[in-house]
Amino acid sequence: MLLFASDTHLSAHRPAAVAAFVEFLAGPVRRADRLYLLGDVFDLWLGDDDDRAPHPEVEAALAEAVSAGVPIDLMRGNHDFLLGAAFAERTGCRLIDEPHIIEAIDERTVLLHGDTLCTRDVEYQAFRRYARDPVNQRAFLARPMEERAQEAAKIRATSDSRTRLKPEDIMDVTDDEVARVLSECGATRMIHGHTHRPGVHEIGLETGPATRIVLGDWYEGGTVLIWDETSVRLARPEHLSA
Ligand code: MN
Repeated sequence: MLLFASDTHLSAHRPAAVAAFVEFLAGPVRRADRLYLLGDVFDLWLGDDDDRAPHPEVEAALAEAVSAGVPIDLMRGNHDFLLGAAFAERTGCRLIDEPHIIEAIDERTVLLHGDTLCTRDVEYQAFRRYARDPVNQRAFLARPMEERAQEAAKIRATSDSRTRLKPEDIMDVTDDEVARVLSECGATRMIHGHTHRPGVHEIGLETGPATRIVLGDWYEGGTVLIWDETSVRLARPEHLSA
C-alpha cells in the first residue's frame, strides 16, 4: 500500500493539523510500503535552521516513521521549497524533485506539487522562478532568521492580497499543461495537491484516457490518498486503521 498526502500546511497556528499529522505518522503510515508527501507539509520553512514550533515535533515524528521502516519521499511545495539536505539528513526523508515518476502496482504515474500546472497565474510563475533560483536562495538563507521571517511575511501579505483579486480559474491548473506533462512523462495518472480542491478527474488524452487525482489540504481534518491492490481512493486519515 502506498499513501499520499500534501498541503498539511503545518504551523503553530494549526495545532489540530499538527496533532492529526503526528498521529497519522505514528498510526496508519506504519502499515504503508511508502509515504509520499507532495509539498506544503510545512506552512512556512525558512531554511533547515528554521527550528520554530512545530518543526522539531514534526521532524521527530517523520524520523520515527522512517526508523520504523517506512520510506518517506518528500517533494517541496511553494510554502516549503527551502527544505534541504540537512532536513533530509535529520529525518531520513528522501527529497524528490518534480515531476517524479513512479511505476507502481499498475500504472505509470507522475507526481507533482501542482503549482507548476497553474500556468495562467503568470505573476506567480515569475515569483517561482525567482524563488527557486539557487543564487537567490543562498543569499536569502545567509540572512538572519528574523530578517528572513520579515521578508516572508511581506511576500505572503502581497501574495494574499493579489490572490483575492484573481479569478478562481487562474488559481487552478491549466488543462493543456496537465496533458503536456502527462504526455511528456508517458504517464496515464497524475497525483498532485496545491489547489486544495480534492477530487478525481478523468481526462481524454490523444493517446487515451488518463486520471488526475488532487489531494486536499488538512485545514479541517486531513485527506490522504490510499493506493493498494484493490483501488486508488481518497480518504480521511482517521478512517484508516493503524
Ligand atoms: Mn501549494
